[in-house]
Amino acid sequence: MNPDYITFTIDEKKNIALIAHDNEKAKLIEWCKENKEILKHHNLCGTGTTARMISDQTGLTVKAYNSGPLGGDQQIGAKIVEGRIDFVVFFSDPLTAQPHDPDVKALMRISQVYDIPMAINKATADFMIQSKYMTSTYDHEVINFRKNVQERAETL
Ligand code: PGA
Repeated sequence: MNPDYITFTIDEKKNIALIAHDNEKAKLIEWCKENKEILKHHNLCGTGTTARMISDQTGLTVKAYNSGPLGGDQQIGAKIVEGRIDFVVFFSDPLTAQPHDPDVKALMRISQVYDIPMAINKATADFMIQSKYMTSTYDHEVINFRKNVQERAETL
């Protein structure tokens, strides 16, 4: 076993974050309706407006963090760091500048660091939600930060 990595397990029941920029919200709500039978078996959360709209329009229970421009993406990133979110569907808008672009990039980066499945468009979300791993646990390798911190503290 490589000590540079730790095995994390994503449970059968996923902790799913749902986020959509304004021009993409209708698409994400439609996707949630299409996949409601699957999504209802998992814990759902999202940025403020997205979560509220999905709850209102699909009947799914979605825990709401702050609105994205007010720090919601950062809250979701922090939950990834804590191991409390392990699956992200983020329909970002590729054609419109966002005031909170640094936060969007930070969320994408932290998802990469923690090897979190993240869909940034509908096709990827469709493939992810149909994956065999949706009904099983999934082991993945994450950088061993404890070792990394120890080594850096000793050598820097
Ligand atoms: P919202 O935030 O769901 O509150 O609109 C999403 C975003 O713009 O990142």
